[in-house]
Amino acid sequence: MAGNQKELLEQFDHDVIIVGAGPAGLCAALYTGRAKLDTLVIDKLIPGGQILNTELIEDYPGFESILGPELAEKMRAHAERFGARIIMDEVLEVRSTGPGGRVKLVKTLEREYRAKVVIVTAGGSPVKLGVPGEEKLNAKGVSYCAVCDGPFFNGKVLAVVGGGDAAVEEGTYLTKFASKVYLIHRRDQLRAQKILQDRLFANPKVEVIWNTVVEEILGDQAVTGLRLRNVKTGAISTLDVGGVFIFIGFRPNSHILKDEGIKLDNAGHVFTNQLMETGVPGIYAAGDIRVQLARQITTAVGDATTAAIAAEKYIEALNEQPQEPGPLQVAATAAAAQAGYP
Ligand code: NAP
Repeated sequence: MAGNQKELLEQFDHDVIIVGAGPAGLCAALYTGRAKLDTLVIDKLIPGGQILNTELIEDYPGFESILGPELAEKMRAHAERFGARIIMDEVLEVRSTGPGGRVKLVKTLEREYRAKVVIVTAGGSPVKLGVPGEEKLNAKGVSYCAVCDGPFFNGKVLAVVGGGDAAVEEGTYLTKFASKVYLIHRRDQLRAQKILQDRLFANPKVEVIWNTVVEEILGDQAVTGLRLRNVKTGAISTLDVGGVFIFIGFRPNSHILKDEGIKLDNAGHVFTNQLMETGVPGIYAAGDIRVQLARQITTAVGDATTAAIAAEKYIEALNEQPQEPGPLQVAATAAAAQAGYP
């Protein structure tokens, strides 16, 4: 390899940077680590992502039932065992720079890193209700994580807002601690999986309040109640509760890609092709941040496997042609295009 090509390759701090250490990030790290690529995983919190907020996982093959934090720990150890390094820092921005955009710059709170490839598995953050009282009483009875905060509400009456998998699953979980759980949903049908709904409806501690939205979270030092509005009748009522858990969806953390011109859907999920390519060579996306039908641990690790293997092929091409000004000729991308993948 010519001297200046070698110099170009030496400017990289890492082969691969993975943004986010949830199941997708840890699985991608396992694969890139096994491929002997120098891999750095950056997460603003401890590894595990959303599974840390889930008590029991019953839909990950091979584990009929496993605690969320236990699965997270196994995934972390597995990725590290194959050489991935995991650090805590907050990624603020990912962008391409250098000749032909070959260098991926990852800007964090602490510093900047240069990598050949970035796999973005940054998931999302809980959507807020945006009603009066929510901000003021955050962590004073307003919560977005049942596993984290449930034990603080022993014997209390609680409200859960939402009708998806998270609300229904976590609402059922909270009955372990609460004397009663009101599930408040804006429609007359839940969106959650049937098996989760059946469990909820069979629980004598749960009462569903249909067609209702929260207008205000009441309380001074701590949550004391909710002001509710029935969307069908317009009737306003007050419900006394000692805490409210909000599960009304997830907003993808795709803001870190904002200057790359990557295509997003209306909610901010990243469009990828079947190789998890984002349209910007060398930037891949996997897991909940991606536009897709199901947001499960199984789909996250599937995406991540594809992204890691595609990234490995991209790096092989980059190591061969570090200076080419045009797009890299990556075998996997070319084969996918030939097969008619978008
Ligand atoms: P979700 O599926 O998007 O459901 C959000 C729920 O909140 C919906 O019922 C929605 O009502 C309601 N909602 C949205 N905005 C609202 C607002 N402003 N006021 C009141 N209600 C509002 O979100 P999620 O439950 O957080 O789940 C996110 C993803 O993770 C999903 O893909 C889910 O399948 C997955 N997940 C899976 C599991 C599991 O498999 N065990 C567990 C947790 C999460 P509408 O129904 O009227 O739209």
